[in-house]
Amino acid sequence: MKKITLLLFLFSNFTFSQKILTCGSSPNSKDLMTRSYYSNNTIRKTQNEEKYIFRIFFHIIRDNNGNQVFTTLNGNASPNITEETILDAVAMLNRTYNQFNIFFKYSGFSYIDDSSLLQIDNSEWGTETNSIIGNHQNFRSDAMNLIIANNVLSSSGNQLSGRGRFRNTYSIFNNEYLLTATLPHEIAHNFNLFHTRQNSGSSTFCEYINGTNCATRGDQVCDTPASHPLGGGYVTNNGNGYIYNNFNNRMDCNGDVFANVGFTNFMDTNLFNVNNYYNNLRTEFSSGQGVRMRETIANDPLNHYEQTLTTIDELYKPYYSKILGAEGNENIYSTEDDPNIPGNVIICRYPIFINKFQKGFDYDFYTFDSWNYVKTPTNPVLDFSQTVDEVISIENKYQHAVKINQISSDIVGYTNLGGYKGLICKSESATSGKVVSLKNIGDLNYTIKNLNDKEVTNPDLIKNLESGKFHTIYKTTKSGITTQKKIYKNE
Ligand SMILES: [Zn+2]
Repeated sequence: MKKITLLLFLFSNFTFSQKILTCGSSPNSKDLMTRSYYSNNTIRKTQNEEKYIFRIFFHIIRDNNGNQVFTTLNGNASPNITEETILDAVAMLNRTYNQFNIFFKYSGFSYIDDSSLLQIDNSEWGTETNSIIGNHQNFRSDAMNLIIANNVLSSSGNQLSGRGRFRNTYSIFNNEYLLTATLPHEIAHNFNLFHTRQNSGSSTFCEYINGTNCATRGDQVCDTPASHPLGGGYVTNNGNGYIYNNFNNRMDCNGDVFANVGFTNFMDTNLFNVNNYYNNLRTEFSSGQGVRMRETIANDPLNHYEQTLTTIDELYKPYYSKILGAEGNENIYSTEDDPNIPGNVIICRYPIFINKFQKGFDYDFYTFDSWNYVKTPTNPVLDFSQTVDEVISIENKYQHAVKINQISSDIVGYTNLGGYKGLICKSESATSGKVVSLKNIGDLNYTIKNLNDKEVTNPDLIKNLESGKFHTIYKTTKSGITTQKKIYKNE
């Protein structure tokens, strides 16, 4: 009786969820056959392994008027996709791919204001060479392009969670699925990973449960077990983790029945669920999948990866930086009378720098001695560490260096994207002031004359001062900076 209750519960979870969508990616024969460079190793040779750093760029589809009009599958308005959402996506990819020395550098996002693309149907997805969405004019040829749409449809008009083009660098997502296991899943398709159940049920191409043809059949990865579609089945916990419940007694083409196939891999069955019932169960890639993705990247079969790869140095640079002119009493380096404009004061300030770093890494930030940008900083001093998953914004640090623990123990100096900028000097007019005058230095007897805006900017201010006295001229600018100048008037 207890068991039946459990079954009913699981069935109801499956049956009444209207939100289960499938991934729409299935490899063509060329995708399947480009395996000549796959070593089918399941253990990586990590020594001196090259790091791959992909630039990643996002596109948000909006209506013709520039409004974000995404809806959930239930028809409610979706929260807007913001840069914060996108940075969360980049962080998720880094967390899932860094183990394979694959990194993603956030390179920004743009909007595509085209109502006709809010729903990307199968014809727009097209083929490798004939894809409206894959050849869109807004696309960045030097980055992986991730498109966020309202709906993605299969050839039969069914809603999809997403699609990733095999051996290519673009993917599309139903807006609700961006921050789910769909994200690492579709990017894995870009690196030519197939579903673990690939070709299951095919009489000639199916992968045997006994593993003897794992290198050339199924997902062509040997440390992921042969698998099968969920179909009308469901996932259950057998005490050791989640597995497919093969109540249909599905078999491989040797006639062996699938049993206790795990459901923990990002590429396990192509069902995704926004209520996270399935999403939370799949959390990993296998080592062999990592090898296969790296071998795909290294061989760059369709010449798409190379132009989207960048250098490790880029990861150490802020994704956003700005130099602000300081104001008021901030960051003043010097003040002096403007020799060209009577009454004006030249105020030189250090600029304020704002640098933002993408989340998803553990950072240590350092200050260091030299004033000039140097890649290897001298005498770095740890300023602060950042391990929480937040965008890091640093203000007002002239010289900074950073260590990213996921990359190496190197401490690398960085500069603003706009380059190093020295003092920012501005001439400001004085708006008030005063003159303190005395006969001899040390006199207790002195006079104070307050100056209004006309008097303080009078070109004859000094000429009109009394002779034979020491004068201290105070000028206050409109931003509140007060300067003083001492003179002796002897004629
Ligand atoms: Zn898929």
